[in-house]
This record gives sequence, C-alpha cells and structure tokens, in this order.
Amino acid sequence: MPDNPSPLSDASIPERGIAKVDPLAEPPAPISVMTINAHPDDQEFSVAGTLAKWARAGCVITAVCVTDGDAGSNDPDKGAAYKPALALVRQGEQREAGAVIGVKETVFLHQPDGELQHTLALRRDLTRLIRKYKPEAVICGDPTARFYGNSYMNHPDHRAAADAACDAVFPSAGTRLIFTELLAEGFEPHNVKRLYLHGSEKPDAWIDITGTIDVKIRALRCHRSQVGEGEDLDQRMREWAEEDGKPRGFKYAEAFRVMVLE
Ligand SMILES: [Zn+2]
Repeated sequence: MPDNPSPLSDASIPERGIAKVDPLAEPPAPISVMTINAHPDDQEFSVAGTLAKWARAGCVITAVCVTDGDAGSNDPDKGAAYKPALALVRQGEQREAGAVIGVKETVFLHQPDGELQHTLALRRDLTRLIRKYKPEAVICGDPTARFYGNSYMNHPDHRAAADAACDAVFPSAGTRLIFTELLAEGFEPHNVKRLYLHGSEKPDAWIDITGTIDVKIRALRCHRSQVGEGEDLDQRMREWAEEDGKPRGFKYAEAFRVMVLE
C-alpha cells in the first residue's frame, strides 16, 4: 500500500462527471425551456416562480403535461364517468396557469393519471417533443426522489414522468439512431444544454423568485379543482420558498439540481 493512496476524485471517473455549476451564481435564463410534469398543477407547485422570472426575461416556455390529472378527485359522488369531464377542467386550469406564468404553449400527452409508467413509448413521445421544440433547457422532477423526510412519498407518476424526461433528454433526443421512426417524421436530433431537476434532495443551483412568488401563487390558484381559496396555500408556498432560499440568503427561491450537458 502506498503511504498516501490518492483518493478517487470525480475527475478520475468519467462516468461520475465534473461539477460545472457554480452554486454561488444564479443560472441565467435560457433562450427557451421545456417543462415536463406528470399532472396539472405540478409545474405551479414546483417551478412557477422560476418560469415566471424567465418568461419576463424573454425565455420561450413550452409546458408538457403528461397526464390530464383525471384522477384528481376523491368526491364519493363521482365515478369513472366523471373522468373525461375532470380532464377537461384540469386542462383548462393548466392553460390558465400557463397564461399567468407566461407559458407560450402547453402540450398534453393524455396519459392515464395515477397509472403512469416509464415506458419506451412515453420516452419516444417526449423525445419527439424535444426534437420538435428544440429547447435550450429542460426542467423536470428528480426521478431519484422517492421519499421526502418521513411523511411524503413522491407520487409514482412524478417519478415515471421524470425518468422518461431525463432519458428523452439524454440520450434519445440527441442521438440520431435512437427512435429512427422520428427521423422519418422529420425530427432531427437536438441537444439540450441544461437539465434542471426540481424536488432534488441534492440541489446545486438556486433561482431567486422573490420578484415572482406572487405570480407563482396566482398561477397555482388557477387550479381551482385542487386548491382552496384560503390563505394557508399562500402561506405554505411562501414557507417552502423561504426554506429553499436559506442556503443562498434569498427571501424566496426555488432549488434545482442542474446537469450541464454541453
Ligand atoms: Zn402531481
């Protein structure tokens, strides 16, 4: 044994990657971003402050909602027949929230709420959208987050959508010979430069949303079928954002793990 065995550094293991994010510098607004989430309202709960800030800086935002949120009711008077109606209500609420934020277009993939799976078909659908809209950055959930503390289990739809989104970003969107049927449809490869993961337990980038927290709450309130009218929502969102802001001394922030891909 050598006296001073050199510890493995990140740089010595290519697969481990090298940190490229300066946690002290707020990432600049991308030219364009695609947000990918499982349910209507996920985007508003998690990243609406960042999106609103970026929209006001000129960023073109495409929102992808993988399900219609048609399982979002526990009303004992409602059954399966209510689901198509609820889907329409929730699509409308999502579009309204998008308008408040400054989203240019919202795309629904109409997958089954509560029964979403990370399939090749879903990965292909997301790859097609990334190649079509060519966003500089993509935002999705952190697929590795399963348990938060000891009281919140991450929804399986969130993990499935996040897994499919990450795999669509890399390697599918940028690799010509994956999903070659997309080439036949006219969709050439596109390389996403940055991937922002929200809900990560290892955040390394913070966006100051002090100027857009009110927009975030206004957007969230568009989801009338899901959130009440009361003040507690307002307070809860401010508390979350305060907690996220602490590591960087921001009054309100949203925290991300960022993958720098190019
Ligand atoms: Zn959700």
